[in-house]
Amino acid sequence: MACPTCNEHTPSIGLNSKIGYVGHRRFLEMSDPRRRSKKYNGKPEKRAPPPILMGDDILSQLDRIPLTLPGKHKQFGGVKRKRSREELNCFVGTLLSIDGKLKDIDKARMDLQDLQIRRELLLYEDRNGKWKTPPASYTLSVQERIEFADFIKSVRFPDGFPANLDKNVNLDTGKISGLKSHDCHVLLQRLLPAGIRKFLKKEIRDTIIELCVYFKQLCSRTLNVSDLEKMQTNILTILCKLETIFPPAFFDIMVHVVMHLPKEAILGGPVQYRWMYPIERSMSVYKQYVRNRARPEGSIAESFVVNEAVTFCSMYFREVETRFNCPDRNNDIVQNMPTRQFSVFKHVGRPPRYEDSRHLTHANEHKELLQARSVGNIEKVQETEFPEWFKTRINELRLSNQGAVSDELYAISNQANAAIYFYPGCIVIGIKFLVKERDDNRKTQNSGVMVPGEDGENFYGTLEKIMEFTYLKDCSVLLFLCK
Ligand SMILES: [Zn+2]
Repeated sequence: MACPTCNEHTPSIGLNSKIGYVGHRRFLEMSDPRRRSKKYNGKPEKRAPPPILMGDDILSQLDRIPLTLPGKHKQFGGVKRKRSREELNCFVGTLLSIDGKLKDIDKARMDLQDLQIRRELLLYEDRNGKWKTPPASYTLSVQERIEFADFIKSVRFPDGFPANLDKNVNLDTGKISGLKSHDCHVLLQRLLPAGIRKFLKKEIRDTIIELCVYFKQLCSRTLNVSDLEKMQTNILTILCKLETIFPPAFFDIMVHVVMHLPKEAILGGPVQYRWMYPIERSMSVYKQYVRNRARPEGSIAESFVVNEAVTFCSMYFREVETRFNCPDRNNDIVQNMPTRQFSVFKHVGRPPRYEDSRHLTHANEHKELLQARSVGNIEKVQETEFPEWFKTRINELRLSNQGAVSDELYAISNQANAAIYFYPGCIVIGIKFLVKERDDNRKTQNSGVMVPGEDGENFYGTLEKIMEFTYLKDCSVLLFLCK
């Protein structure tokens, strides 16, 4: 029973070397024209969709399972199990010929011979009596792979988003190897849809891009039930299309279970709270605890207890950096920052210590120019004269009654100091921003900014300058100049 949701009715066929989980037409509506098509396996599909199991059915199935205790002890019915790690992104492997993930092998072509479908992909004998594999339309040639690898090498990501993909790409062979799970997700969701446009035929390309978009939607931060319901029907279409492109050996159970993910997201909520990443990370830590390989569990339990005890004790240490008080990688907390009342002075962000100050030379000149102009329009006059009036009024008030005007109101009514500080970068809510000029010399890209507009439209730009205007009473305003 490979798929717990489809249970006994998991669609599958026996192939030369394995079981291929194809036949997703079964989940379509009975009236769907694709059910009558012969290009899938040469036959029409007449079976109804598999029934959905209810609680009672599952309980009655569980009653039939003999009682075994977990572990490798034979007397309790357990056997030592081999571990296999199957990556979801096997089709990325097929496409790009990633080592060990190549599913498009000769046996897969022999399956096509047995099923009598897609004759253009069948093995053939050449003049010298050698068997040859015709190139499939869904794989990239060596030259195309190298071009794709070059594209991946040229992409610059924000700091800390994926690992440095440069190291995993071989430009001579066009192969990609040694990707971590998260990098695979980045490759699948972000790079593949943009990168393969050039190389594949339209229908193959579109299907693969649809699958990439499906994963991107599924992994998004917020999910809508109505969207997920739409995705449930979309994924069936995508899988049916994939069945007409790739050979049945490509469809292992990991490809099939993709179709149940929207239902699980409806029941379980956003995906990021149910990732396996944190568990895999902690498993790697526990494995490092093992000293005596004959008794790994003992080593892990002992080190775990010691680690917990030391962590607990560290809560009572003063003036020592522990895991509870160590600063973030991008720490944006400004030491001794006074609390501000006015939102304009409440900037969240910490520029680095390096600064470059320049003086405003045109400020006075511009002011004189504005005063010389006489306009009938009240709004315009107000726009020009209000700052000066505001300044004198507040200064008068402050002189007559010290308590009536706060320091911040006094600071904002007076002009900014002539010195402006320019910074090469700034950390805002844990994210590092760098100006374009400094970013150009780096492998990462942190100069992109996005501002949500009032009518739901987003504005994108590059960060050109970071400036700090200082006012009286140590007040300051941090501004990002973007293009
Ligand atoms: Zn299933």
